[in-house]
Amino acid sequence: MSHHLTNADLHSHSTVSDGTLAPEDIAALAADSGVELWALTDHDEVGGQARARQAAHAAGLDYLTGCEISVTFAGETVHIVGLGFDDTDPALVRGLAATRAGRLERAREMAAGLAQVGIHGAYEGALRYVGNPELVSRTHFARYLVEAGVCPDTHSVFRRYLTPGHPGYVPFRWARLGDAVGWITGAGGIAVIAHPARYRFTPTEEYALITEFMAHGGRGMEVVTGSHGAADVVKYTDTAREFGLLASRGSDFHSPAESRVLPGALPDLPGSLTPVWTALQERITRAPAR
Ligand code: AMP
Ligand code: MN
Ligand code: MN
Ligand code: MN
Repeated sequence: MSHHLTNADLHSHSTVSDGTLAPEDIAALAADSGVELWALTDHDEVGGQARARQAAHAAGLDYLTGCEISVTFAGETVHIVGLGFDDTDPALVRGLAATRAGRLERAREMAAGLAQVGIHGAYEGALRYVGNPELVSRTHFARYLVEAGVCPDTHSVFRRYLTPGHPGYVPFRWARLGDAVGWITGAGGIAVIAHPARYRFTPTEEYALITEFMAHGGRGMEVVTGSHGAADVVKYTDTAREFGLLASRGSDFHSPAESRVLPGALPDLPGSLTPVWTALQERITRAPAR
């Protein structure tokens, strides 16, 4: 079968970061939804990889290791997905731990900002939603603020409280672009620019991101993602072709209640692109034949 038609979902989050399902439950849901090749890509963390791989194979899915690294580039947070790396690589594991460090202190500052506008107890409230104490995310605050009746849904929490210029937002310095790409490629994987349409870059800044990313050894870009509309897919198909980037596909699934897209429920990659998994065939661990 053509690689383009593989139902690959190479972007998803579990309770090891800011998703609401355990790796085992995503694997089962992905298999039910028709996914054939899966990667769990928790934020700044590979602690779920062994469980995800085992659950994938038990559910009949082929598996690629994954993570989504938070990077600061040109003053903006950019996400770099890593695929097909050795998840025990010491430099990668150390780099991710350094990237996670500071999330708890950031969370305290976020709660202090919210307290100033009369929202109390957000630190303790958010922590009740956290599955991994090293990975407190804005998403956990969003879930608590919905529970507390501050907003009707997590999207409005982000809009009103957790984005730049709002009381629960704390500027944070994430990993450097070159470091994140280096950790992934040094561990034998491929680095991919996640959901490029989400960044508020000028065309010049976007060009700088892509060229610097490639200069550091980055090779891929998400084209079909739960974050892209049809026009974004057209635009980034052109961009991936222009720069000779491998194309990735992933739902960015976080939760059955919050995510617009279920695992694998995405358009196929356009046939003019080279899927990133064609370059990762020897890194895929295969489900046992049944
Ligand atoms: P953090 O790494 O703590 O800054 O949190 C980033 C996460 O927040 C992203 O991975 C998304 O899961 C979530 N997020 C960011 N913006 C939004 C939004 N507008 N609506 C819902 N979730 C969002
Ligand atoms: Mn997330
Ligand atoms: Mn992301
Ligand atoms: Mn994500």
